[in-house]
Amino acid sequence: MRTSRLLLATVKETPTDAEIISHQLMLRAGMIRKLAAGLYTWLPLGLRVLRKVEHIVREEMNRAGAQEVLMPAVQPAELWQESGRWEHYGPELLRLSDRHQREFCFGPTHEEIITDLIRREIRSYRQLPANFYQIQTKFRDEIRPRFGIMRAREFLMKDAYSFHINAASLQETYDEMYETYSRIFRRLGLKFRAVLADTGSIGGNSSHEFHVLADSGEDAIAYSDSSDYAANVELAPTLPNPSPRAKAQSPSLAIVNTPNQHTIEEVSQFLNVKPTQCLKTLVVEGTNGLVALIVRGDHTLNAIKAAKLPDIQAPLQMASPEKIKAEIGCDIGSLGPLGLRIPMVVDYAAAHVVDFVCGANKNGQHLVGVNWGVDLPEPKTADLRNIEVGDPSPDGKGMIQIARGIEVGHIFQLGQKYSQAMQATVLDENSQSVILQMGCYGIGVSRIVAAAIEQNHDDKGILWPQNIAPFSVVLLPMNMHKSDRLPEVTTQLYESLLAAGIDVLFDDRKERPGVMFADMELIGIPHRIVLGDRSLDKGVVEYKHRRDSETQEIPLSEVVAFLK
Ligand code: ATP
Ligand code: MG
Ligand code: MG
Ligand code: MG
Repeated sequence: MRTSRLLLATVKETPTDAEIISHQLMLRAGMIRKLAAGLYTWLPLGLRVLRKVEHIVREEMNRAGAQEVLMPAVQPAELWQESGRWEHYGPELLRLSDRHQREFCFGPTHEEIITDLIRREIRSYRQLPANFYQIQTKFRDEIRPRFGIMRAREFLMKDAYSFHINAASLQETYDEMYETYSRIFRRLGLKFRAVLADTGSIGGNSSHEFHVLADSGEDAIAYSDSSDYAANVELAPTLPNPSPRAKAQSPSLAIVNTPNQHTIEEVSQFLNVKPTQCLKTLVVEGTNGLVALIVRGDHTLNAIKAAKLPDIQAPLQMASPEKIKAEIGCDIGSLGPLGLRIPMVVDYAAAHVVDFVCGANKNGQHLVGVNWGVDLPEPKTADLRNIEVGDPSPDGKGMIQIARGIEVGHIFQLGQKYSQAMQATVLDENSQSVILQMGCYGIGVSRIVAAAIEQNHDDKGILWPQNIAPFSVVLLPMNMHKSDRLPEVTTQLYESLLAAGIDVLFDDRKERPGVMFADMELIGIPHRIVLGDRSLDKGVVEYKHRRDSETQEIPLSEVVAFLK
């Protein structure tokens, strides 16, 4: 590729609306442009990187014997009703209707679609195990899309779904996918860690996330300093050490999950709002996810009355647990005796069911605890509750350390969750009908691009790992347009590099050397060859790796061999 033919949309200034370095650098390097919140266009340079990531993922999935398919992005509501998720998925699901008023959603994930396919296509245990994957655009109406393509609403995912006659076979494929994911992240050139993840309502020790380690990561990972133990702290988030994501999303309270009681001050710190705003925020956000504020006891009620929240117009009402359950469809029996409830919510069908429980002690000081709603998985273990650096590791080996990570992959043993609900069965060797076992395996293909930058950059720009760089080599002829020799020599070298299968960019712009250097450092091309009249007199070019500080001279005739 010649730079004169490339939309090289580099920007000098740091964009003010980009909080983290990968977002800033992707904008500055001209990789992406924002269309609307959480929606991005990939420019030619960015798309080259995305395609390289995709290529590695595809090659490794094929190597593992998975079969590529491509399912529709738009999915009929009926299948989601069958699995029960039409009701429970919540506001991240983008719902649409067609001209005949039939309901659809834009797929945030594809379990229903693949399960429907497989129940029609696979009849016998002889066709199993089978693993199907796709690389497809997903849409999730994230409450707070941010960090550019890192947490977008529309994004590219590789998702795979495996089907099995029994749990042992599922375990085998799961282990194979674990290995495949490790290979993928190694080939991508990323520092990563596989960690135990929440298995939600399904239970079992059967979910791992793959995290790229980076300080800007939204997840906290607890790991042992002397064993392989590692787990997402999300398993049981703690108030004193919330992840930035918990903070960002917290007004919906969807991911706060603690049986403990906390003061308003603690909660407000956690939510990143002023104490006086704390209850108000909850109430305001109620229309957007919180369906009921459930208050226990007179002290709290008085405190809330004293706070004179403008958003609560309706009188406080008594409600029995049965009545609340009937209205919000959520069993709150476990919360103990309930007193009063503030009726404040609106669109039950579209809302997440999240209960906020609070109480107050005799001094009128608020004590607040947050409980999970029906959508939210209960923590699998209490291992990580209030875990801190230096605590003994849950596997008994070593001490806990905490690192931050970006979730780039997630593998999961679903068991019969979808196959049961959707009656996906096959005949076993005795011609008995058996409900399929199922696994699912996701990789955030587009998120990986940002994660790679978080891990690989310096003050000049991006430092691409070799395998996903937009170009491997750049040729920079100095003041080519004033030289007799450079156009021809550079073109020749360019063509021999192309012929050798090397991904090379020829910077043929009429730009000052300083501008060319700065642009190429910003976009992070690993190998740089500078051609100048003076060095050509000596028969050499100047070589520098993006990560090195020193340049070296290489004979022109040896460049292709050197770079191969
Ligand atoms: P997160 O915890 O970051 O919201 P998730 O657990 O909801 O992610 P999964 O359902 O496990 O995501 O989806 C598989 C992968 O898709 C994730 O591991 C992540 O890499 C990627 N992904 C999920 N949501 C987004 C998003 N909004 N933007 C970009 N990539 C995403
Ligand atoms: Mg999510
Ligand atoms: Mg997650
Ligand atoms: Mg996940």
